[in-house]
Amino acid sequence: MFKTKNAYTNLRKTFDMHERCPVCGQKYELETGFWFGTGYVSYALGVAFSVATLIAYWVIFGLSWADNSIFIWLGVNGVLLLLLQPWLMRISRVIYLYFFVYYDEDTAKLPESK
Ligand SMILES: [Zn+2]
Repeated sequence: MFKTKNAYTNLRKTFDMHERCPVCGQKYELETGFWFGTGYVSYALGVAFSVATLIAYWVIFGLSWADNSIFIWLGVNGVLLLLLQPWLMRISRVIYLYFFVYYDEDTAKLPESK
């Protein structure tokens, strides 16, 4: 789907995509501005990720309003989210496309079909 396999190899090219799927010929950008909606997906993923780290932090280190632990979590979570951004945005595009395009296993086995 993306031209570079690793989202981090070249950050400038993170969103360089093939126009169509090399296997089935499915067009990726269904309409101009199609990827705009991925913002909602990555937002939801970011929130889900934050909730997960919050719970993990809570369990491992404990959270309390009395000390700065909530701020440490906020900082760590922020840094993690930033580091994960290229990957998160890519996975958002994949998930977003899944909403609109049905994945057909059989098509993947027939590279000659359109
Ligand atoms: Zn395909």
